[in-house]
Amino acid sequence: MTSFEYFANTCASIEHIPGSLEMTDVIAKLLKEVTIEELPIVTHFVMGSVFPAWSDRQMGVGNRLLYTALSKSSGVSEEEIENIIRKTGDIGETAVQALSSNPAGQSTFSAFIEEKPGMEIKEVYERFTHIADTAGKRSHGTKIKNLQYLFNSATPIEARYLARLAIEQLRIGVGEGIVRDAISKAFETDVDVVERALMLTNDLGLVAVAACNGGNEEVQKLDIQLNRPVKMMLAQVTSSIQSALNDLGEVAVEWKFDGARVQIHKEGENIHIFSRRLENVTSSLPDVVKEVQENVNADTAILEGEAVAIGKDGKPRAFQDILKRFRRKYDVEAIAKAIPLKLNLFDVLYLNGESLIDNPLRKRRELLFQNVQSSDRILVDRQVITDNEEEIQEIYADALRAGHEGIMIKKPDAPYSPGKRGKNWLKKKPLMETLDLVVIGAEWGYGRRANLIGSYALGCYDPDTGKFPAIGKVATGITDEKLAELTTLFSDLVVYEAGRKIELKPEIVFEIAFEEIQKSPNYESGYALRFPRLVNVRDDKSPEEAESLERIGEIYHSQRS
Ligand code: AMP
Repeated sequence: MTSFEYFANTCASIEHIPGSLEMTDVIAKLLKEVTIEELPIVTHFVMGSVFPAWSDRQMGVGNRLLYTALSKSSGVSEEEIENIIRKTGDIGETAVQALSSNPAGQSTFSAFIEEKPGMEIKEVYERFTHIADTAGKRSHGTKIKNLQYLFNSATPIEARYLARLAIEQLRIGVGEGIVRDAISKAFETDVDVVERALMLTNDLGLVAVAACNGGNEEVQKLDIQLNRPVKMMLAQVTSSIQSALNDLGEVAVEWKFDGARVQIHKEGENIHIFSRRLENVTSSLPDVVKEVQENVNADTAILEGEAVAIGKDGKPRAFQDILKRFRRKYDVEAIAKAIPLKLNLFDVLYLNGESLIDNPLRKRRELLFQNVQSSDRILVDRQVITDNEEEIQEIYADALRAGHEGIMIKKPDAPYSPGKRGKNWLKKKPLMETLDLVVIGAEWGYGRRANLIGSYALGCYDPDTGKFPAIGKVATGITDEKLAELTTLFSDLVVYEAGRKIELKPEIVFEIAFEEIQKSPNYESGYALRFPRLVNVRDDKSPEEAESLERIGEIYHSQRS
């Protein structure tokens, strides 16, 4: 069994490593050293998550709750804890300082260090699971008590990483890319094999265990599983229909519906719906559940489609209306009546016990068509296979006239590539390209708007490190009402405040329009945006779906050519 202190020390050493290769080595060593039972836990911990992304389990620990737990564990007032965090800018260091000096002048650490048996990794995980599983009225108190127990059993180094893990902000610069490489290295398994298994299962913990048990052979056995979301295939922008035809030859053309992506898992009458962020949104969409139960013939299936909110004129409504449906936890039936959804299915990944992802799109479409009865709320819309540019232009014009975003141009013979943004799916939209960027910080406004957030700091995504390097700021410049709405949206994500500056947990994605990307030494990414403007809050996208650093570089170079 491995101690949590050993894990904490490893995190501390990783924090000082600048290069990702060396980091990979350290993590590979850690993965090899822990027991098979600890392996999935450590795999997630090292990326700053406690449970796999697909799991419904959530820690449910925000900054406030953590401050209270730290205050109760140390005897230092919550106000003082906030002061420390303002100075240190780090919840880990704050935990260490608070626990080292309680008001009686005693270190909380020294009181029990000698008789302390030392926590094991598994024990920390079990407490965290307990914290996640407590629900209801008394859950707040129970969560605090369990955190208190952990802090009061911790050594300083353990406290640093416990505090960060509790809010799932480990900040050691380790993302999926590095852990994927570390698994490959530790258990002599091909990187491609590990990567594919990750896309299918969405769970590097599971992949690590398979790799440890039998390398390539065991990992290759991992497959799509019903009721566990598969990472979704994504589309690349194409500059023109002609260039799409040049790239793909004969193409399959579909409308690009203006809605929100859903992945639907059907097991008999049992339906699970996952959002693009792979969150389980079933309870918000009872009308979609009913349509699938009544109109999808297969016993078991994984289907994908776009849920569109339809207005009185039959045209798609604003994206914000769909989000109202996806976010709603109460009075679900009432909002379902007010904002009805229509489901446009466009793919099938699994049918009657068999994975279809390696089948060509043509075949998947045929099976999809055979297994869905169309109604006015669920359908498999038209797909045209052609190499005729004019015909595609017409479909494009029709889609725009109907109020949709544009068209998807797909390669008919391509398999479904989970989690990949490649040339097999292209999208053509009329608007200038926008960027999806993660909000990483903010600043309070001035004067009348002093209690509203006035501008937001934006970051792109670096999949290797799991970090969000800064690329610029957007001043929202909108109505007070909208500013207040956004301020509330971000209130739970504040990591710390220093003067007017706020650091935010990277959770929310903004869709940003811009004039140009420039090189800039002022931002960590090395780039800056000219004239950024907020177009939409993209609640349907996860931070990892934001534009990658590599993509920003590509756009920068394409502007210049
Ligand atoms: P984007 O969000 O701009 O990257 O565009 C890709 C998204 O378009 C997908 O994730 C779907 O949510 C959406 N979409 C709408 N219609 C289709 C379609 N026919 N095929 C695939 N994706 C579609």
